[in-house]
Amino acid sequence: MADGATGELGRIGLKRPDLFREQCYIDGKWTGDPTHLVHNPATGGLIGRIPNLGKSETERAVAAAEAALPKWRAQHAKARAEIMDRWCALMVKHQEDLARLMTAEQGKPLAEARGEVVYAGAFFEWFGEEAKRTYGDLIPGPAADRRIMVMKQAVGVVGAITPWNFPAAMITRKVGPAIAAGCTAVLKPSELTPYSALAIALLGEEAGLPPGVFNIVTGDAEPIGRVLTEDPRVAKFTFTGSTPVGKKLAQQCASTVKRVSLELGGNAPFLIFNDADLEAAAAGAIISKFRNTGQTCVCANRFFVQDGIYDAFAKLLAEKAGELVVGDGLAGVTQQGPLINDKALQKVEAHVADAIGHGAKVLAGARRDSHGGTFYQPTVLRDVAPDALLCREETFGPVAGLVRFKDEADAIRMANDSCAGLAAYAYTRDLSRSWRVSEGLEYGMIGMNTGLISSEVLPFGGVKESGIGREGSKYGIEEFLEVKSIVLQL
Ligand code: NAP
Repeated sequence: MADGATGELGRIGLKRPDLFREQCYIDGKWTGDPTHLVHNPATGGLIGRIPNLGKSETERAVAAAEAALPKWRAQHAKARAEIMDRWCALMVKHQEDLARLMTAEQGKPLAEARGEVVYAGAFFEWFGEEAKRTYGDLIPGPAADRRIMVMKQAVGVVGAITPWNFPAAMITRKVGPAIAAGCTAVLKPSELTPYSALAIALLGEEAGLPPGVFNIVTGDAEPIGRVLTEDPRVAKFTFTGSTPVGKKLAQQCASTVKRVSLELGGNAPFLIFNDADLEAAAAGAIISKFRNTGQTCVCANRFFVQDGIYDAFAKLLAEKAGELVVGDGLAGVTQQGPLINDKALQKVEAHVADAIGHGAKVLAGARRDSHGGTFYQPTVLRDVAPDALLCREETFGPVAGLVRFKDEADAIRMANDSCAGLAAYAYTRDLSRSWRVSEGLEYGMIGMNTGLISSEVLPFGGVKESGIGREGSKYGIEEFLEVKSIVLQL
């Protein structure tokens, strides 16, 4: 068990201490020696340990998922939906414990963690319902005595790898539709945030998931990833994480021609036009940019602000950013937690230094926070050059860089000048412009007059190098279904 001397577990203060699991979950059994240390990014304190599993244990998990598959997918969707529903209800029931665990391992403020737990649970409920509606087709045949029927069937065993920034929702957004559709799954969560995943597995067991339907392995990413991408028993691989790792894993999947879904990095533009409601735009910008300390894939990364309101918007955004309360997420008042680790802090500092080197001026922050560690102040920079690192790469930190534009075409051109295509935002009160801009932006998701887009009913996903496929919504379950055609000769 965790080193009690560090006091981290005591500070988390779980009402149900057994939700904290330090073993993996394979074939309905808790397994593996906890050897790998997991720390709280806000305090640096040791939370606990997890097993460092590899190839053979992952193969065992795949075998368990394969063995559980026939019975699970043969069940009526309603039976699976009942379990998904209970799973969601258990997450809501234990919202506070799950949120505190998440904040301790990931750093986000408690209020955001509570929101994520409910959001994450909603994928179980939603996809349980959607599984009942995986309708096929009856197609008029090419001859008078021919009929064509189309049915949808569960793909099979699913391999999944998820990142640390949303330790619960990135899991349920994949595992929810997979399991509801009748697939079984093996998940590798990030080694930085394993405890949310393991608690979710425990609640799945309590909801009635049979052994082998959902398995979790923690440990060395490379060998685990090899099995999940190359083992022929895995029919589908689904990944959320960075674009370089996603590309590598997609290549590995080619060897067995697996079905692949990728949710990768973004570089979201946020456009504010002269006719925008400035207060609303600044509030939307704060949510979009500083939520989770700027560590969301849909975070606004580049702010394009029109000439006429540039100064007023810059002032307003800097004031609002300066008011954000930075600190340990477990303290109730905190609005911005730490960055996940030193590497993330160094990237943020490099982007800010580069922007300033290219002529940007500091309106707020641009330095480490007095809390020390990986805390960084909410930062607003104006006059950022479009070719600064801040504009070219995903910063993944609390830095808003403002770029000036003249007209609509100019703004759309600059916004589209990226190989990423996940989310984009725009603020305008002109209805025609809102359509033109929505249609002109080469992104999978557009927030028009809102900085917050995610929900379980949204088709979530990107174009260009931001990924393949969609999660959430009625489209999300299709990623885990095969289309089978039956030609009937009368
Ligand atoms: P990452 O470094 O790509 O890691 C993501 C996951 O892949 C982790 O579980 C990681 O394991 C694992 N991994 C790393 N290298 C691997 C390898 N060679 N083989 C197999 N698995 C490997 O990304 P991250 O830093 O955790 O997450 C941030 C990125 O995710 C950002 O780019 C963000 O935009 C993106 N993201 C996208 C979405 C979306 O929906 N499009 C949502 C959230 C995040 P370990 O952590 O255990 O090393």
